[in-house]
Amino acid sequence: MRIFDPHIHMTSRTTDDYERMAAAGVRALVEPAFWLGQPRTSVGSFTDYFDSLVGWEPFRASQFGIRHHCTIALNPKEANDPRCREVLQVLPRYLEKDGVVAVGEIGYDSMTPEEDEVFAAQLALAVEHDLPAMVHTPHRDKARGTDRTIAVVRESGIDPGRVVVDHLNEVTVARVAESGCWMGFSIYPDTKMTPSRMVAILQEHGLDRVLVNSAADWGRSDPLLTLRTGEAMLAAGFTDDDVDRVLWRNPVEFYGQSKRLDVSDLLDVDATFEGNSILRGGS
Ligand SMILES: [Zn+2]
Repeated sequence: MRIFDPHIHMTSRTTDDYERMAAAGVRALVEPAFWLGQPRTSVGSFTDYFDSLVGWEPFRASQFGIRHHCTIALNPKEANDPRCREVLQVLPRYLEKDGVVAVGEIGYDSMTPEEDEVFAAQLALAVEHDLPAMVHTPHRDKARGTDRTIAVVRESGIDPGRVVVDHLNEVTVARVAESGCWMGFSIYPDTKMTPSRMVAILQEHGLDRVLVNSAADWGRSDPLLTLRTGEAMLAAGFTDDDVDRVLWRNPVEFYGQSKRLDVSDLLDVDATFEGNSILRGGS
């Protein structure tokens, strides 16, 4: 199985994780810029973080044969801190960099007026820099947050086919499907979304415009839940080709819209995904 994890925070993970991911078939990933847990108090903390997302982390990933890309943005949570607002001014120079494949994570945390403003400004940056947008939906009040997200995306004028709305569940999937945006699902060990619930969603809604990610970060999470979802798909009767579509071709198609995705050399060697023994539950 070849896996492209379209949303994983490797900055928070160890080399053991990189090693396990490589062994599981993860060949490429996207690391969205997000909140680090500890609130930042100045723009310099952001630029150092962004520099590590375009410099150090791709190097670290490459040591395990994994192609690292990132998205850059002022995240919704820190959009509420006036000390961080200046980050918007430094974004344009990062959005021109090679490994940056989208503007993200943007969207809502608590749905404040500040978040409204920063979300709209960053969708405009995505349009201006001809990049896709990666949108986080709030973990609380998800249905309302998703509706408001879709409305703001619509107002921005960005092509919905260039937007992924992430962290969806059974309640929010239909409205995003209808909007024309891509549907992102973050699979967690015991909350929010599991591999078996993901399989049920794929059975109901199909495989179009669907991205599955582990969203692994500094909280309780598991970078191999993409693999586990692929295994659950096969156990439920999906084909190897279906799994390849969801776990590889879909993220390549979505982030390929940036024209900066660099996986063409990986595509050639990856035709052998059918032989994956981990997937088969073999040795
Ligand atoms: Zn995230």
